Amino acid sequence: MTASTKWWEKESPRFECQPDCFKCCAKPGIVYFDKKSIENASKITKLSPARFRKEFLKRDDDQWVHEVEDGNPCAFLTPAGCSIHFGKPIQCRSYPFWRENMTSKAMWKLVSGFCPGIGSGPHIAVATIRNFLEQFKH
Ligand code: SF4
Ligand code: SF4
Repeated sequence: MTASTKWWEKESPRFECQPDCFKCCAKPGIVYFDKKSIENASKITKLSPARFRKEFLKRDDDQWVHEVEDGNPCAFLTPAGCSIHFGKPIQCRSYPFWRENMTSKAMWKLVSGFCPGIGSGPHIAVATIRNFLEQFKH
């Protein structure tokens, strides 16, 4: 292993999202929506992009974000799951493979205390993880 080799390149982590969990959709924070996500989600919700932004998003610096407040899950979460599943932003599609979670194996273990999908299911290919990290840079 070279100095630049990441722990997850050497030992591919296992992950499978758990049915009816939705914990990460109820975690307070912000969900970033880029132009493509806004287009996709507005089609699913049958709103114009402008209307979608007005109803659900706020400006945070130069980005559009949806705010999830403590005790109030993401507005797109329904009892059956994400109502914009096929148009959800890369932030949601790439969880839990975020930069902050992948920094070390210890950090990944810590996140597994929150996300029950970590450690179960198939080994995730290095290329898939790289692709997530490349697409979601926060
Ligand atoms: S916390 Fe993990 S297992 Fe639960 S919904 Fe989110 S990604 Fe899936
Ligand atoms: S957009 Fe969908 S996947 Fe993302 S946090 Fe909201 S409900 Fe969850």
